[in-house]
Amino acid sequence: MRVLLVEDDLLIGDGVRAGLEQEGYTVEWLENGLDAAAALEAEPFDAMVLDLGLPGLNGKEILRALRERQSVMPVLILTARDTREEKIEGLDLGADDYLVKPFDISELFARLRAIIRRAAGRSWPVISREDLTLDPASHRVMVKEDEIKVSRREFNLLRLLLENQGRVMTRDSLERRLYGWNGDVESNVLEVHVHNLRKKLGNEVIQTVRGVGYMIDKVS
Ligand code: CA
Repeated sequence: MRVLLVEDDLLIGDGVRAGLEQEGYTVEWLENGLDAAAALEAEPFDAMVLDLGLPGLNGKEILRALRERQSVMPVLILTARDTREEKIEGLDLGADDYLVKPFDISELFARLRAIIRRAAGRSWPVISREDLTLDPASHRVMVKEDEIKVSRREFNLLRLLLENQGRVMTRDSLERRLYGWNGDVESNVLEVHVHNLRKKLGNEVIQTVRGVGYMIDKVS
């Protein structure tokens, strides 16, 4: 899961980025609203944590432009002003949730999980498919009653594919979501993760779409 963090307060930005990375997210942090708007047009993200008061372009304008492009990406706004008008305006512009500064980082994690889950059309916090379940909060993968040990990257890859069941994920989009801008991606690293996941989960769960990428089928 790749998150765009837009925050010009260095202390908050640094803390949120570190926290999200520890939670296993790939985080791109930008401090300027114009940079954020450009990144959103060019790059795949799974969610955005958006401060409202920003240099360049403010958070409301970024959000408005995003929704005008019909993007359904989950957005959590951060606001310094604890006023009713501020919250209502943010939600009406298409934010999925908001947090008022100062906030507790674990509350941010929980709200982010919730909006990602709702954007994927799930009301249940655990993602499941037949015997396989993945819990984004506890970072556990189970097959029936057995816990399957997976690395952080394997967990993230599996979560991305499960959150997008029935959709083909291109190699490029998966690599960007797993490694971000700064990641040094070796050419076969995705194959290695898929190979390892297949060894642990069985061959039939992740499908290769030749020349394009990978997918996990939807089961009805
Ligand atoms: Ca700010």
